[in-house]
Amino acid sequence: MARIQFSGVGKRYPNGFVALADLNLEIGDREFLVLLGPSGCGKSTTLNMIAGLEEITEGQLRFDETVVNEVPPHKRDVAMVFQSYALYPHKSVYENIAFGLRMRQQHDAAEIDRRVRDAARRLEIEPLLERRPNQLSGGQRQRVALGRAMVRQPSVFLMDEPLSNLDAALRISMRAEIKQLHQAMQTTFVYVTHDQAEALTLADRIVVMRDGVVQQIGTPDEIYEQPRNQFVASFLGNPPINFLEGLVEHTAHGLRFVRGDLRLALPESLSAKAQGQGDRPVLLGLRAEDVVEQPGASEQSLHGQVTTVLPVGSDQFLGMQTAGGLVYLRVGKDRRHREGESVALSVVTSRLHLFDKATGESLRG
Ligand code: ATP
Repeated sequence: MARIQFSGVGKRYPNGFVALADLNLEIGDREFLVLLGPSGCGKSTTLNMIAGLEEITEGQLRFDETVVNEVPPHKRDVAMVFQSYALYPHKSVYENIAFGLRMRQQHDAAEIDRRVRDAARRLEIEPLLERRPNQLSGGQRQRVALGRAMVRQPSVFLMDEPLSNLDAALRISMRAEIKQLHQAMQTTFVYVTHDQAEALTLADRIVVMRDGVVQQIGTPDEIYEQPRNQFVASFLGNPPINFLEGLVEHTAHGLRFVRGDLRLALPESLSAKAQGQGDRPVLLGLRAEDVVEQPGASEQSLHGQVTTVLPVGSDQFLGMQTAGGLVYLRVGKDRRHREGESVALSVVTSRLHLFDKATGESLRG
């Protein structure tokens, strides 16, 4: 059981580089927290600080009420799973899973055997216990790495991109298993990834990071639906959100976004801050899925010419040249679109996003 609290935590490397700045974050007991961001944003540094593998140069890190800045890794009751699996090549699967427990000398052979077999059963690798790692597939090796962490029954489970070496299909099925594992183990999970879909699927809360600075902390819905700035909006979503540059205009019915011939009424939720935008340029954020195919043009129509059609099984991705610029949209497949065709799609106004172009900050109230 552990609550993890970062108070003003920072990391400055000896060469002066700041990999993490002023992190304030409380991770709840049994929470599944995902650290998400591009390469080099400081995710692994943060995770390694929890593990005790990285020195903390600013602030305090607490497990429950205890400051652990100086507590060595083996006294922290954490277990870590890495992208590389880090299995011992000359040991069997059984021995790989048991090794950490044997080293600790806290459990007798019968208890170790019980835990190894229990973990192997849950991970469905019982038939593989006598094999060596080089006789396993990538997915099986990853399960062994998970098993080795599970048998420790740690208070905190740390995972650094554990699925990134797996192929796409296996990654998706392992995501579901990791989620089940979290429910079964009733332990705090902290998970590092640069894969937004993985973060949205797994997390209770996501911390989006960039250049060592937290951009936003929230549930997957909050992060996806109310991104605080342009960076967060652009990092989540597939295909990525479209940004159209333009201005905010006042009309008798409220505010609207204008760019050339494109005019889109803005929702109430954007009015308060957008009111004061004046002549400063804005970026309209339109997610690919926030359009509907409706016959007949309306006030909220996006007109344009289809430039590309990418069928993706369940849907179609359309590239569309509009008065506001080129956008990529996702529509159903009831009607097959063709390149060169003129279309009008209705925008779901309530889901539009608006950002100040200069600062990238959201203009949502
Ligand atoms: P990735 O997904 O690529 O692993 P990350 O978000 O996990 O990226 P970190 O490994 O936490 O990033 O690294 C954060 C930053 O700290 C990077 O810019 C990295 O180059 C820098 N860094 C890491 N170790 C050192 C070091 N010993 N000295 C100086 N800078 C370092």
